[in-house]
Amino acid sequence: MFDKVLIANRGEIALRIHRACREMGIQTVAVHSTADAEAMHVRLADESVCIGPPPSKDSYLNASAILSAATITGVDAIHPGVGFLSENADFATMVEEHGLVFIGPKPEHIGLMGDKVAAKQAADSLGLPVVPGSNGAITSNAEAAQVAERIGYPILIKAAAGGGGRGMKVARVQGELFEALTQARTEAKASFGYDAVYLEKYLDRPRHIEVQVLADDQGNVIHLGERDCSLQRRHQKLLEEAPSPALNAEVRAAIGTRVTDALRRLGYRSAGTVEFLYENGEFFFIEMNTRLQVEHPISEAITGIDLVREQIRIAAGLPMSLRQEDVHFSGHAIECRINAEDPVTFLPSPGLVTDYHAPGGLGVRVDSGLYAGYRVPPYYDSLIAKLIVHGQTRNECLMRLRRALEEFVIGGVKTTIPLHQRLIVANDFINGEYDIHWLERFVAGGEPHRPGS
Ligand code: ADP
Repeated sequence: MFDKVLIANRGEIALRIHRACREMGIQTVAVHSTADAEAMHVRLADESVCIGPPPSKDSYLNASAILSAATITGVDAIHPGVGFLSENADFATMVEEHGLVFIGPKPEHIGLMGDKVAAKQAADSLGLPVVPGSNGAITSNAEAAQVAERIGYPILIKAAAGGGGRGMKVARVQGELFEALTQARTEAKASFGYDAVYLEKYLDRPRHIEVQVLADDQGNVIHLGERDCSLQRRHQKLLEEAPSPALNAEVRAAIGTRVTDALRRLGYRSAGTVEFLYENGEFFFIEMNTRLQVEHPISEAITGIDLVREQIRIAAGLPMSLRQEDVHFSGHAIECRINAEDPVTFLPSPGLVTDYHAPGGLGVRVDSGLYAGYRVPPYYDSLIAKLIVHGQTRNECLMRLRRALEEFVIGGVKTTIPLHQRLIVANDFINGEYDIHWLERFVAGGEPHRPGS
C-alpha cells in the first residue's frame, strides 16, 4: 500500500480523499493555489505545497507544478479527484512516466471516453444501447441535414469534446439546424479548443440514470447500482438520489450486468460511471466518466462501500475487497449540492462565511470544507457543500432531508439551500415523477403541471 498520496484537487473532494487516506494510514500532501492557503483540506493534510496563483490554469491545471510538488514531497501516488486533471489522459501518462501511480483508470480509457464520439462508438461495439444519432462527427451542413432527416426532429447537437453541458444546442425543426450547428461549434471551440460536433435524437422526457462501477486489475468488475440525476439546471446536476424511483430490482440488475460485461470486455480499471438517458423503459448510453463523481456518496450510503478506499486499493494493485454478491442495497439516499449561488438568479455568491453550522444525526453526512471565517474564493466552481441523507425508505429519507436542511446554517454567502427546501416539498418530487427537464420548469415558475399528477 502507498505511504503518501498527493491530492491534486481542492474543496470538498480534496477533503473527501484526505479522509479516505487517513483511514487507510496513508499520509497526504495537499497542493493549493494562493487563494486556497486557508482551505480545510490544506489545514488537515500532513504537508502542503502552493502550486501557483488563483486561476486554475496556473495552479490546479498546471501539471508540471503538481508533478514537481509530488517529486519534492516524495509521494507514491496522485489522486486527481473530480474535474481539473481527473480526465486528462496526458496527465495520467505523465504521472506514470514520473514513476508514480495515477489513482484512476488507464490513460487509454480516459482518452477513449473523453472523446464523446469515440466513446459512443465504443459503447455501441461493447453492446451498450446508444441514443440514435450521427455515426461519428458531422463534417458538413448537408450531412447534418441528412442525418437529422433520418433520425427525426428535435435534434441535439453535442460537442465531441463536451463536458458540463457546454456546446449543446437543440434544433426543433429543420429551419433551426444550421444556426444551432454554428452556435454549437463556436461554443465547443471556445470551451474545449476543438469544434467537432455530432448529432443525437433529442429525447423529450428522459431521466438521467447512471451506473456506478468498480473494476480491478484482476478482471473483477462490479456495479453499485444506479443514481438518478435527472434534476438538472442547464445540464448541471443539483440533487441526486439512489436508487432511482423509476427502476425496480430486476431492471437494476439487468442494466448493471450489461455495464459490467461491457467494461470487463474493455479491460477497464478503477471507479467509473456509465451515464444513460432512460425513457419508456429503454436505456441509451450518453457518456462514461472515467473518475469519481461528485454524487458518489449516495452510492456509498446505500451500499456501505467506500469508493475512494476501493479506488486507492485498486491503484495499489490489490484485488477489490468485494464481489458482486457482496453488494447489498439498503434504504434510500439523496444528495443536495449546495452552491454559493443566489437561489433565484443562480449568480455566484463568493465571500466570507460568517456563520456555519452543519446538520448531523443519524443518516446525515456533510462533505464540505466550510467553516466560519472561511472566504469562498470567486475563482472556482460554486459547490461549497454536499448534504447526503440516508433513510431506510425514500419517505424517511425525505423527512430527514427536510429537517437536515432546516438545521443547516451558512451565513454571509447566498446558497441554494432555499431552492432545495422548495424542491423537496414539490408533489412531483415527492412522487418521484420527474425527468431531466422538470427542474428548469420548476425554477422558471413553480411546480410544473403534469397531466395525471
Ligand atoms: P456533458 O458531458 O456536457 O455533461 P452529457 O452527454 O453527459 O454532456 O449530457 C448532459 C445532460 O444533457 C444529460 O444529463 C441530459 O440532461 C442532457 N442530454 C444529453 N443528451 C441528450 C439527448 N439526446 N436528449 C435529451 N437530453 C440530453
